[in-house]
Amino acid sequence: MSLPYAEPYKIKMTEQIYRSTQEEREQWIKEAKYNLFKLKSSQVYIDLLTDSGTGAMSDKQWAEMMLGDESYAGASSYYKMKDAVKNIFGFDYFLPAHQGRAAENVLFSAMIKEGDIVPGNSHFDTTKGHIEFRKAKAVDCTIDEAFDTTLNHPFKGNIDLNKLENVLKNNPKEKIPLIIVTITNNSSGGQPVSLQNMKGVKYLADKYGIPVFYDSARFAENAYFIKIREEAYKNKTIKEIVKEMYKYADGMTMSSKKDAVVNMGGFSAMRDENLYKKASVYNIMFEGFITYGGMSGRDMNALAQGLYENTEFEALEARIKQVEYLGNKLIEAGIPVQHPIGGHAVFIDAKKFLPQISKEEYIAQTVAVELYIVGGIRGVEIGTVLADRDPITRKNRYPELELVRLAIPRKTYTNSHMDYVAAVCKKIYDTRHEAKHGLRITYEAPIMRHFTAEFEKIK
Ligand SMILES: *Cc1c(COP(=O)(O)O)cnc(C)c1O
Repeated sequence: MSLPYAEPYKIKMTEQIYRSTQEEREQWIKEAKYNLFKLKSSQVYIDLLTDSGTGAMSDKQWAEMMLGDESYAGASSYYKMKDAVKNIFGFDYFLPAHQGRAAENVLFSAMIKEGDIVPGNSHFDTTKGHIEFRKAKAVDCTIDEAFDTTLNHPFKGNIDLNKLENVLKNNPKEKIPLIIVTITNNSSGGQPVSLQNMKGVKYLADKYGIPVFYDSARFAENAYFIKIREEAYKNKTIKEIVKEMYKYADGMTMSSKKDAVVNMGGFSAMRDENLYKKASVYNIMFEGFITYGGMSGRDMNALAQGLYENTEFEALEARIKQVEYLGNKLIEAGIPVQHPIGGHAVFIDAKKFLPQISKEEYIAQTVAVELYIVGGIRGVEIGTVLADRDPITRKNRYPELELVRLAIPRKTYTNSHMDYVAAVCKKIYDTRHEAKHGLRITYEAPIMRHFTAEFEKIK
């Protein structure tokens, strides 16, 4: 008899969470204008808003915190992080930043100008924001299979090489400062990119003389999927696979709040010394001196330790199996979710969940609000609200997918919490026909509106 799977860690510290009533939550979400970002965390029972910076660090990471060197210049913590970046990714140059979008800001300041075109696979919202803020354009070249949530494709994060080549062929080289490959592809459902695809992208990039950068927040989960889904790599370690992945990149931006399992931090890294020098100027201006870039020494230490630990197969397996556990529970209940289950989150297909609600009434936001009211669960909308308005026409962009993302923080919740989440989803799904209307926006910011938008229920 084979024994069931169990995690390779135990818990050393706990944190109390408040189990509110539905009446309390109905009041709170109304006060929060039906925007889950506006809730107090104390009003949330199970917080699946994001897996970004919300994970539990290991005892060894906490030990590293005590060893942090807080010197302004040349701290040992900087060199610890520099070694980790070199050992794991192979890049000689790196710039610490306080989080992923800050690394984007620094790197893009050195690379992107007005009128540029940046092809990639479903650019992350802050990435797209930083591109559009510079009056440049992000062009999505993700494979079409990514947009069919029922299709079981092993690498739905892949770039369609024909789409990419069309962009490279039909635009002058000077207008394409870089190609961004997001691993895993967050916006299309935490879906991985294959190593074969990375090689293909690099081949085209070299043919047209364009550098390739990986938006690397969940690079380790991506490597895990390569190991278990791409035959040629099944006997390689995660660290070997990561090394191989980054052979086909000229640089990276990293939100360390994801796969480095720290609460705050990020960096950019690159091969080209000239680019490093150019970006250093912006790092100093926006983030801090180049040997700390907005991070404390202790945080750089924990980050370096997190990178080493989270590129071990056992760590990734525990995490991805928990996400799968929740995903399978929802599938058993008949709830439409994105297939296959992604690395960091389960994505509910809201268009299939509430087909009677029109796209103008923010379908995924409507489902996300219900999850909160019924169960105190905070997920997040990945749909029309997030897609925002077209910067030129100012019209709503209606993406093909309306998803509710339930992101699982690393090593934070137990599988009993997952059982509860699944039960809440089922309860709502079983009464879904009663929903007649969705929401309308009463306030929105001109860019990245999802964080602060206000809604009201359509009666
Ligand atoms: C989180 C994330 C970012 C932005 O990083 P922050 O640390 O939140 O600023 C960029 N790209 C991807 C793919 C991400 O997941």
